[in-house]
Amino acid sequence: MRSGFVNIFGRPNAGKSTLLNALTGEKLAIISHKVQTTRHRIKAFLNGDDYQVILSDTPGIMKPEYKLHERMMQSVKSSLEDADVAILLADANDDPEKMDEVFSSLRLKVPVILALNKCDRVNADRLRKMTEFFQTKPYGKEIITLSALKNEHVDDLLQAILKHLPEGMAFYDPEELTDLPQRFFVSEFVREKIYELFDEEIPYQTTVLVREFKEKQTLIKITADIIVQRESQKAILIGEKGSMIKKLGTESRKSIEEFLQSKVFLELFVKVRPKWRENDLYLKEYGY
Ligand code: GDP
Ligand code: MG
Repeated sequence: MRSGFVNIFGRPNAGKSTLLNALTGEKLAIISHKVQTTRHRIKAFLNGDDYQVILSDTPGIMKPEYKLHERMMQSVKSSLEDADVAILLADANDDPEKMDEVFSSLRLKVPVILALNKCDRVNADRLRKMTEFFQTKPYGKEIITLSALKNEHVDDLLQAILKHLPEGMAFYDPEELTDLPQRFFVSEFVREKIYELFDEEIPYQTTVLVREFKEKQTLIKITADIIVQRESQKAILIGEKGSMIKKLGTESRKSIEEFLQSKVFLELFVKVRPKWRENDLYLKEYGY
């Protein structure tokens, strides 16, 4: 039996959350084309007959601009210190120098696999150049090219991970998929829809807190607060005659029902909490 902790690092938008979902075959991490969707470490378990891989998705690596960012970067740093294997995820379309700057700064002491992602979107020439670039780097001894979105060569990555995994018993119940509670995923699905439905600053000014999660006979009743920083943002979220909040509610409910495999009654409330992203008490309350 082999088991161990594997962390996925990379610049925002590299496809870390998509890769986590592809490896697990489940939708656990929310995804958007906008950067900084992921705010928490999500742990997912890959359970095989003779292995358990505990995978962590991390927020993208960046320079902190506000306190929420600092919290997010602390979580990246803490995951650096407790991994058995690190996956550095590179977007094959991204600037190699910029990725190198980030990857070099990590100074990893654990085995590293460099995964070159989005291979469905680059030509062979570019792919070869990128591979040659990373081969010369200390973290580029082992390179795998793949497409997380199209699920191509994702299994090659799994095989490479297993080779590095220490021998030992499973850390978690092999029946479980994740260590996070269902209500966490509920708030993430609402956040994902906010990223889809609203432009510009709204998603970054918003967080979601599930206040009530009650399993009734025929459905699950969920109440969630959407926290924003200003009245004007509340007005945008609610929309004309409540049109936007209604749409948000319907679409969120659909993904939550799919995830929970149950009928759901979802109630959303929008609340203004000025400067919540800078406030220690609020950040704690909202789980950061
Ligand atoms: P993260 O910020 O690193 O977690 O990145 P996400 O997983 O949220 O993905 C960012 C964007 O890249 C999304 O629009 C994904 O659909 C897209 N993406 C991820 N993997 C691939 C891939 O293999 N190929 C292509 N073409 N797009 C991808
Ligand atoms: Mg992500």
